[in-house]
Amino acid sequence: MREILARNERLVAMGQMAAGLAHQLRTPMAAALLYVGHLQREQLLEADRIKFAAKATERLKRLEVLVQNMLLFVRGQPQEVSSVSIGEVVQDALAEVRSIFEPSGLQIDLQNNLVDTKVLANFKELSGAIGNLLENACQASKPGQHVICKLELNAGQVEISIIDSGVGIPKATLERLFEPFFTTRKGGTGLGLAIVRNLISSYGGEVSVTSTPNFGSVFKICLPRVLEATNVSGQG
Ligand code: ADP
Repeated sequence: MREILARNERLVAMGQMAAGLAHQLRTPMAAALLYVGHLQREQLLEADRIKFAAKATERLKRLEVLVQNMLLFVRGQPQEVSSVSIGEVVQDALAEVRSIFEPSGLQIDLQNNLVDTKVLANFKELSGAIGNLLENACQASKPGQHVICKLELNAGQVEISIIDSGVGIPKATLERLFEPFFTTRKGGTGLGLAIVRNLISSYGGEVSVTSTPNFGSVFKICLPRVLEATNVSGQG
């Protein structure tokens, strides 16, 4: 009986996910079809041809991102996990996000780099997850505001906090943040946080959030620290 219930729950969840995906795919697909339709018009100015082709390509790229994110979410499994320096992972994520957001006047600071602290993860996947939280923090902030990435050690856990002083999140929204396809952003996929939570829990960690509307938010990733055996010869 319990198995049947669990299966039914899974089917319901899959149904919800499929409905969410269909809903997300429909808009860019309809737009792409519209622009391709324009391209087929007989008398078309060269400038319009270029414009419609660019718009169709943009929508198709968006579809591609959606499908890639969906696959990432469904697979949910980390690839090739090894002991990686959390400081180096964070630097990698910061470099990427800074290149996107600093030109628009946002400052992204690192507090307390832990280069010698290791966690068990896939370097690029973890960097992508931290980058995702940093991007969300930047999107919630205004030019001139600071986003802070803070690293701490706490009782065998590595804590990575992404702190912004942006729009903040109302309580009702807070409860739904990690649901697949939940988004309040125009053009958002609503898969970012769902993917981050899946990935971090596959590493034995947790993601939590606290937020105050109009004051900002703190997203915190906790991961178990890897203690590597010390070299008895004293050379490492
Ligand atoms: P997306 O960015 O595509 O909307 P996410 O899963 O990354 O998908 O985020 C879901 C929603 O969570 C966002 O639409 C936004 O409402 C909210 N959110 C996430 N991070 C923040 C933040 N730092 N400040 C305010 N809202 C946030």
